[in-house]
Amino acid sequence: MATPSPLPPFAAIVVAAGKGLRVGGDTPKQFRDWRGKPLIRHSVEALLEAGASPLVVVVAPDARDHAQAALRGLAELQFVVGGATRQNSVRAGLEALDESAPAHVLIHDAARPDLPRAVLDGLLAALEHHPGAIPVLPVVDSLAFACDGVMAGKAEREVLRRVQTPQAFRFIDILAAHRAWTGATNAGDDAQVLMDSNRSVALVDGDERLKKITFAEDFMDSSTLPEFRIGQGYDVHRLEAGEELWLGGVLIPHNMGLVGHSDADVALHAITDAVLGAVGEGDIGTHFPPSDPQWRGARSGQFLEHAVGLARAAGYAIANVDLTLICEAPKIGPHRPAMRAEVARLMALDEGAVSIKATTTEKLGFTGRGEGIAAQAVVLVTRTA
Ligand code: MG
Repeated sequence: MATPSPLPPFAAIVVAAGKGLRVGGDTPKQFRDWRGKPLIRHSVEALLEAGASPLVVVVAPDARDHAQAALRGLAELQFVVGGATRQNSVRAGLEALDESAPAHVLIHDAARPDLPRAVLDGLLAALEHHPGAIPVLPVVDSLAFACDGVMAGKAEREVLRRVQTPQAFRFIDILAAHRAWTGATNAGDDAQVLMDSNRSVALVDGDERLKKITFAEDFMDSSTLPEFRIGQGYDVHRLEAGEELWLGGVLIPHNMGLVGHSDADVALHAITDAVLGAVGEGDIGTHFPPSDPQWRGARSGQFLEHAVGLARAAGYAIANVDLTLICEAPKIGPHRPAMRAEVARLMALDEGAVSIKATTTEKLGFTGRGEGIAAQAVVLVTRTA
């Protein structure tokens, strides 16, 4: 896989001063084990891996020992005692960074273990034009105002976004905004503090993988997950003249193409179902119903990326994929390298972990008569922690 280009330098603050007792138990959730190590260690390690330096961890006065134990052995961490509110805690972290005066700082929740690289790229790029940038996601459910258990009105979800962390800022701007913050009103996050000082906050694409771990069921003991799981997928689409032929994410020149609601990429559909099958997440129709007009003509690569994201969120990494295409024509061989590269890219795998094979059915059956193309795939996933 290509190594991503280096990010511009940035400092980071991980806010871990909350009590986090909603998950149950006496230990704040950020210090409890999640997928094999303390929850906070996931987010701190991800930031260090991305190049955060220096990195400040803000902890409650009585949680210093918990935090140091949870983060033992990690280099370059600075522990700062937080305040009574989240604003006070972040302010303490910012003041601690004042001496090193970084150009950019990321402020992150301890309870968001995964940190997709594309989000970091988007945040830091946006700081070229704005003093602040935050990852956001669309609201997919419709919204209702509630009043005494009765619907009191509707909200327009199109103009609303769900806000995640890390939130990225030019250091001098967020420090100034926090110093100017009167505390008269309560801010939910640092973007609100920055906006209150009349500075602009860019919205960049967030990622479901940045999900905050909140409730007890998120703390399912990873030792109960099996080491390996396997999934298989099978799909068929009809061939017709006048259609584009997409196979394995590659547009293949041919006198016929596959018919379907999406781009009908039978290869990616079989792999997607195999991934979903391995982690028990239903099938492609569960997640992307053909009845939903938003998937009309959709590139199937996004289905596969979504499935791989679900597998990761369930604590698994993809080990390998083996795909067989079943058709008389076109010849798959000449397109195999491009398909292999594209499937590897979509699944964030090395090409060595992607096998693409093809067979005919000796002119027997619907594939033999050239009426359609079938695909079957097997995927192995391994536990990541
Ligand atoms: Mg299909």
